[in-house]
Amino acid sequence: MEELLKKHNFAFKKRYGQNFLTDANLLRAIVADAGVGEEDAVLEIGAGAGALTRVLSEKAKRVVAYEIDRSLQPVLAETLSGCENAEVIFRDFTREKMSAVEEELGGAYCVVANLPYYVTTPVVMKFVGESKNCKFLTVMVQEEVARRFCAAAGTGDYGAVTAAIAHRGECKMMRRVSRELFTPRPNVDSAVVKFDFTRGGFAVKDELCFRDTVRCAFSSRRKTLENNLMSAFSLPRERAGALLRALGLPEGVRGETLEPARLGALSDLIFETVRRP
Ligand code: SAM
Repeated sequence: MEELLKKHNFAFKKRYGQNFLTDANLLRAIVADAGVGEEDAVLEIGAGAGALTRVLSEKAKRVVAYEIDRSLQPVLAETLSGCENAEVIFRDFTREKMSAVEEELGGAYCVVANLPYYVTTPVVMKFVGESKNCKFLTVMVQEEVARRFCAAAGTGDYGAVTAAIAHRGECKMMRRVSRELFTPRPNVDSAVVKFDFTRGGFAVKDELCFRDTVRCAFSSRRKTLENNLMSAFSLPRERAGALLRALGLPEGVRGETLEPARLGALSDLIFETVRRP
Protein backbone atom coordinates (compact mmCIF):
# COMPACT_ATOMS: atom_id res chain seq x y z
CA MET A 1 0.00 0.00 0.00
CA GLU A 2 2.82 2.40 0.82
CA GLU A 3 4.04 2.18 -2.78
CA LEU A 4 0.58 2.85 -4.13
CA LEU A 5 0.19 5.92 -1.91
CA LYS A 6 3.63 7.17 -2.97
CA LYS A 7 2.85 6.62 -6.64
CA HIS A 8 -0.16 8.94 -6.31
CA ASN A 9 1.73 11.48 -4.15
CA PHE A 10 -0.73 10.95 -1.31
CA ALA A 11 -0.01 12.87 1.89
CA PHE A 12 -1.74 11.69 5.12
CA LYS A 13 -4.06 14.30 6.66
CA LYS A 14 -4.22 14.26 10.43
CA ARG A 15 -7.39 16.39 10.47
CA TYR A 16 -9.27 13.54 8.76
CA GLY A 17 -8.06 10.89 11.23
CA GLN A 18 -6.16 9.06 8.49
CA ASN A 19 -4.60 6.03 10.19
CA PHE A 20 -4.79 3.23 7.67
CA LEU A 21 -4.76 -0.53 8.18
CA THR A 22 -2.63 -2.85 6.10
CA ASP A 23 -2.42 -6.09 8.08
CA ALA A 24 -4.31 -8.65 5.97
CA ASN A 25 -5.05 -10.94 8.95
CA LEU A 26 -6.50 -8.08 10.96
CA LEU A 27 -8.65 -6.90 8.05
CA ARG A 28 -10.05 -10.42 7.63
CA ALA A 29 -10.61 -10.70 11.39
CA ILE A 30 -12.63 -7.44 11.45
CA VAL A 31 -14.82 -8.66 8.60
CA ALA A 32 -15.28 -11.98 10.45
CA ASP A 33 -16.18 -10.07 13.66
CA ALA A 34 -18.80 -8.22 11.65
CA GLY A 35 -20.22 -11.55 10.40
CA VAL A 36 -20.57 -10.21 6.85
CA GLY A 37 -22.05 -12.77 4.45
CA GLU A 38 -22.70 -12.96 0.74
CA GLU A 39 -26.26 -11.62 1.03
CA ASP A 40 -25.27 -8.52 3.01
CA ALA A 41 -25.17 -4.88 2.00
CA VAL A 42 -22.37 -3.10 3.85
CA LEU A 43 -21.84 0.57 4.55
CA GLU A 44 -18.26 1.69 5.25
CA ILE A 45 -17.40 5.14 6.58
CA GLY A 46 -13.93 6.28 5.57
CA ALA A 47 -12.62 4.07 2.77
CA GLY A 48 -9.07 5.43 3.00
CA ALA A 49 -6.86 3.53 0.55
CA GLY A 50 -9.54 0.83 0.27
CA ALA A 51 -7.85 -2.05 2.12
CA LEU A 52 -10.94 -2.84 4.23
CA THR A 53 -13.31 -1.99 1.36
CA ARG A 54 -11.64 -4.61 -0.81
CA VAL A 55 -11.94 -7.39 1.79
CA LEU A 56 -15.57 -6.40 2.38
CA SER A 57 -16.32 -6.51 -1.34
CA GLU A 58 -14.97 -10.09 -1.49
CA LYS A 59 -17.44 -11.19 1.24
CA ALA A 60 -20.52 -9.01 0.79
CA LYS A 61 -23.17 -8.63 -1.87
CA ARG A 62 -22.63 -4.88 -2.06
CA VAL A 63 -20.41 -2.25 -0.43
CA VAL A 64 -21.15 1.47 -0.27
CA ALA A 65 -18.19 3.40 1.14
CA TYR A 66 -17.96 7.09 2.03
CA GLU A 67 -14.70 9.00 1.85
CA ILE A 68 -14.25 12.71 2.54
CA ASP A 69 -10.82 13.07 0.91
CA ARG A 70 -11.06 13.34 -2.89
CA SER A 71 -7.28 13.03 -3.24
CA LEU A 72 -7.78 9.30 -2.50
CA GLN A 73 -9.80 8.83 -5.69
CA PRO A 74 -6.93 7.51 -7.89
CA VAL A 75 -5.67 5.29 -5.06
CA LEU A 76 -9.14 3.81 -4.52
CA ALA A 77 -9.66 3.32 -8.26
CA GLU A 78 -6.57 1.11 -8.27
CA THR A 79 -7.25 -0.79 -5.03
CA LEU A 80 -10.84 -1.46 -5.98
CA SER A 81 -10.29 -2.32 -9.64
CA GLY A 82 -12.37 -5.39 -10.39
CA CYS A 83 -14.57 -4.92 -7.29
CA GLU A 84 -17.77 -4.44 -9.25
CA ASN A 85 -19.98 -4.58 -6.14
CA ALA A 86 -18.18 -1.67 -4.39
CA GLU A 87 -18.85 2.03 -4.89
CA VAL A 88 -17.23 5.01 -3.19
CA ILE A 89 -19.13 8.20 -2.47
CA PHE A 90 -16.80 11.16 -1.98
CA ARG A 91 -18.73 13.10 0.63
CA ASP A 92 -18.60 13.99 4.31
CA PHE A 93 -20.67 11.26 5.98
CA THR A 94 -21.48 13.42 9.01
CA ARG A 95 -23.41 15.81 6.76
CA GLU A 96 -25.51 13.11 5.13
CA LYS A 97 -29.15 12.60 6.07
CA MET A 98 -29.62 9.11 7.52
CA SER A 99 -32.86 8.71 5.57
CA ALA A 100 -31.02 9.40 2.28
CA VAL A 101 -28.18 6.98 3.18
CA GLU A 102 -30.71 4.25 4.01
CA GLU A 103 -32.68 4.90 0.84
CA GLU A 104 -29.48 4.39 -1.17
CA LEU A 105 -28.81 1.09 0.63
CA GLY A 106 -32.40 0.00 -0.01
CA GLY A 107 -33.01 -2.31 2.98
CA ALA A 108 -31.27 -3.99 5.92
CA TYR A 109 -27.50 -3.43 6.04
CA CYS A 110 -24.51 -3.52 8.35
CA VAL A 111 -21.81 -0.95 8.98
CA VAL A 112 -18.14 -1.94 9.07
CA ALA A 113 -15.54 0.79 9.51
CA ASN A 114 -12.22 1.86 10.88
CA LEU A 115 -13.70 5.16 12.02
CA PRO A 116 -11.83 8.45 11.87
CA TYR A 117 -11.26 9.19 15.57
CA TYR A 118 -12.45 12.78 15.50
CA VAL A 119 -16.03 11.80 14.58
CA THR A 120 -16.38 8.45 16.37
CA THR A 121 -19.06 9.37 18.89
CA PRO A 122 -21.20 11.56 16.57
CA VAL A 123 -21.15 8.83 13.89
CA VAL A 124 -22.06 6.06 16.34
CA MET A 125 -24.81 8.23 17.89
CA LYS A 126 -26.17 9.01 14.41
CA PHE A 127 -26.83 5.27 13.94
CA VAL A 128 -28.07 4.78 17.51
CA GLY A 129 -30.50 7.69 17.22
CA GLU A 130 -31.57 7.73 13.60
CA SER A 131 -31.00 4.46 11.76
CA LYS A 132 -33.99 2.29 10.91
CA ASN A 133 -32.39 -0.54 8.92
CA CYS A 134 -28.91 -0.97 10.42
CA LYS A 135 -28.60 -4.49 11.93
CA PHE A 136 -24.98 -4.47 13.08
CA LEU A 137 -22.35 -1.77 13.45
CA THR A 138 -18.79 -3.10 13.75
CA VAL A 139 -16.29 -0.31 14.20
CA MET A 140 -12.70 0.30 15.16
CA VAL A 141 -12.48 3.07 17.76
CA GLN A 142 -10.00 4.24 20.38
CA GLU A 143 -9.82 1.64 23.14
CA GLU A 144 -10.82 4.15 25.79
CA VAL A 145 -13.96 5.06 23.81
CA ALA A 146 -14.76 1.36 23.26
CA ARG A 147 -14.69 0.82 27.02
CA ARG A 148 -17.15 3.69 27.48
CA PHE A 149 -19.51 2.29 24.84
CA CYS A 150 -19.63 -1.16 26.50
CA ALA A 151 -19.35 -0.13 30.18
CA ALA A 152 -21.34 -1.72 33.00
CA ALA A 153 -23.51 0.46 35.27
CA GLY A 154 -21.70 1.84 38.29
CA THR A 155 -18.23 1.79 36.71
CA GLY A 156 -16.21 4.91 35.94
CA ASP A 157 -16.59 4.36 32.18
CA TYR A 158 -20.41 4.20 32.36
CA GLY A 159 -22.12 7.33 31.05
CA ALA A 160 -24.94 8.87 29.05
CA VAL A 161 -23.57 7.45 25.77
CA THR A 162 -23.52 3.90 27.22
CA ALA A 163 -27.15 4.16 28.30
CA ALA A 164 -28.25 5.61 24.94
CA ILE A 165 -26.53 2.72 23.12
CA ALA A 166 -28.00 0.06 25.43
CA HIS A 167 -31.48 1.46 24.70
CA ARG A 168 -31.01 0.41 21.04
CA GLY A 169 -29.20 -2.93 21.42
CA GLU A 170 -26.19 -4.87 22.65
CA CYS A 171 -22.62 -3.66 22.51
CA LYS A 172 -19.63 -6.00 22.70
CA MET A 173 -15.88 -5.46 22.65
CA MET A 174 -14.56 -7.85 19.96
CA ARG A 175 -10.77 -7.32 20.03
CA ARG A 176 -8.05 -4.94 21.09
CA VAL A 177 -5.80 -3.62 18.32
CA SER A 178 -2.29 -2.33 18.92
CA ARG A 179 -1.38 1.14 17.63
CA GLU A 180 1.56 -0.54 15.85
CA LEU A 181 -0.83 -1.94 13.23
CA PHE A 182 -1.77 1.49 11.81
CA THR A 183 0.00 3.69 9.28
CA PRO A 184 0.85 6.29 10.44
CA ARG A 185 1.01 5.01 14.03
CA PRO A 186 -1.46 6.87 16.34
CA ASN A 187 -0.70 7.67 20.00
CA VAL A 188 -3.31 5.29 21.43
CA ASP A 189 -4.41 1.67 21.07
CA SER A 190 -7.74 0.81 19.50
CA ALA A 191 -10.48 -1.78 19.79
CA VAL A 192 -13.16 -3.25 17.57
CA VAL A 193 -16.67 -2.97 19.03
CA LYS A 194 -19.81 -4.53 17.63
CA PHE A 195 -23.29 -3.10 18.18
CA ASP A 196 -26.09 -5.58 17.61
CA PHE A 197 -29.32 -3.68 17.01
CA THR A 198 -31.27 -6.93 16.57
CA ARG A 199 -30.83 -8.03 20.22
CA GLY A 200 -31.29 -6.47 23.64
CA GLY A 201 -32.44 -2.89 23.76
CA PHE A 202 -35.68 -1.74 25.38
CA ALA A 203 -38.63 0.44 24.43
CA VAL A 204 -39.44 3.74 26.14
CA LYS A 205 -42.64 5.76 26.07
CA ASP A 206 -40.98 8.94 24.86
CA GLU A 207 -37.53 9.30 23.29
CA LEU A 208 -37.07 12.93 24.29
CA CYS A 209 -38.01 12.21 27.91
CA PHE A 210 -35.53 9.28 27.94
CA ARG A 211 -32.76 11.54 26.63
CA ASP A 212 -33.56 14.17 29.29
CA THR A 213 -33.68 11.53 32.04
CA VAL A 214 -30.30 10.09 31.02
CA ARG A 215 -28.77 13.56 30.83
CA CYS A 216 -30.18 14.31 34.30
CA ALA A 217 -28.90 11.01 35.77
CA PHE A 218 -25.31 11.78 34.74
CA SER A 219 -25.46 15.57 35.05
CA SER A 220 -23.74 15.96 38.37
CA ARG A 221 -22.08 12.78 39.57
CA ARG A 222 -21.41 14.13 43.04
CA LYS A 223 -25.13 14.73 43.64
CA THR A 224 -27.85 12.19 44.42
CA LEU A 225 -30.35 11.31 41.70
CA GLU A 226 -33.08 12.95 43.81
CA ASN A 227 -31.22 16.28 43.73
CA ASN A 228 -30.54 15.98 39.99
CA LEU A 229 -34.23 15.20 39.32
CA MET A 230 -35.28 18.23 41.33
CA SER A 231 -33.21 20.61 39.22
CA ALA A 232 -33.67 18.92 35.81
CA PHE A 233 -37.47 18.58 36.05
CA SER A 234 -38.21 21.48 38.46
CA LEU A 235 -39.66 19.15 41.09
CA PRO A 236 -40.05 19.66 44.84
CA ARG A 237 -38.01 17.17 46.91
CA GLU A 238 -41.11 15.20 47.91
CA ARG A 239 -42.10 14.49 44.27
CA ALA A 240 -38.56 13.59 43.21
CA GLY A 241 -38.32 11.20 46.19
CA ALA A 242 -41.72 9.68 45.33
CA LEU A 243 -40.52 8.85 41.79
CA LEU A 244 -37.57 6.93 43.19
CA ARG A 245 -39.70 5.13 45.80
CA ALA A 246 -42.20 4.10 43.11
CA LEU A 247 -39.36 2.26 41.36
CA GLY A 248 -38.11 0.71 44.62
CA LEU A 249 -34.90 2.75 44.51
CA PRO A 250 -33.15 3.56 47.78
CA GLU A 251 -32.90 7.09 49.11
CA GLY A 252 -29.56 8.64 48.15
CA VAL A 253 -29.18 6.51 44.99
CA ARG A 254 -26.88 7.99 42.33
CA GLY A 255 -27.87 8.06 38.67
CA GLU A 256 -24.71 6.40 37.42
CA THR A 257 -25.47 3.20 39.37
CA LEU A 258 -28.75 2.54 37.52
CA GLU A 259 -28.78 -0.01 34.69
CA PRO A 260 -29.91 1.48 31.34
CA ALA A 261 -33.28 -0.30 31.51
CA ARG A 262 -33.91 1.20 34.99
CA LEU A 263 -33.23 4.63 33.51
CA GLY A 264 -35.80 3.71 30.85
CA ALA A 265 -38.35 2.83 33.57
CA LEU A 266 -37.61 6.11 35.37
CA SER A 267 -38.06 8.04 32.14
CA ASP A 268 -41.45 6.34 31.52
CA LEU A 269 -42.60 7.28 35.01
CA ILE A 270 -41.47 10.89 34.52
CA PHE A 271 -43.24 10.96 31.16
CA GLU A 272 -46.52 9.63 32.65
CA THR A 273 -46.59 11.60 35.89
CA VAL A 274 -44.58 14.78 35.25
CA ARG A 275 -44.45 15.52 31.54
CA ARG A 276 -47.79 14.33 30.19
CA PRO A 277 -50.41 15.47 32.76
N1 SAM B 1 -10.79 2.26 5.99
C1 SAM B 1 -9.42 2.67 5.88
C2 SAM B 1 -8.52 1.71 6.61
O1 SAM B 1 -9.03 0.99 7.49
O2 SAM B 1 -7.33 1.68 6.33
C3 SAM B 1 -9.19 4.10 6.39
C4 SAM B 1 -9.58 4.36 7.82
S1 SAM B 1 -9.05 5.93 8.42
C5 SAM B 1 -9.02 5.64 10.16
C6 SAM B 1 -10.49 6.96 8.32
C7 SAM B 1 -10.87 7.43 6.92
O3 SAM B 1 -12.06 8.21 7.03
C8 SAM B 1 -9.86 8.33 6.25
O4 SAM B 1 -9.60 7.90 4.94
C9 SAM B 1 -10.52 9.73 6.22
O5 SAM B 1 -10.13 10.52 5.10
C10 SAM B 1 -11.98 9.34 6.18
N2 SAM B 1 -12.88 10.37 6.75
C11 SAM B 1 -12.59 11.25 7.72
N3 SAM B 1 -13.66 12.01 8.00
C12 SAM B 1 -14.66 11.57 7.19
C13 SAM B 1 -16.02 11.96 7.01
N4 SAM B 1 -16.55 12.94 7.74
N5 SAM B 1 -16.76 11.34 6.05
C14 SAM B 1 -16.21 10.34 5.30
N6 SAM B 1 -14.93 9.92 5.44
C15 SAM B 1 -14.17 10.51 6.37
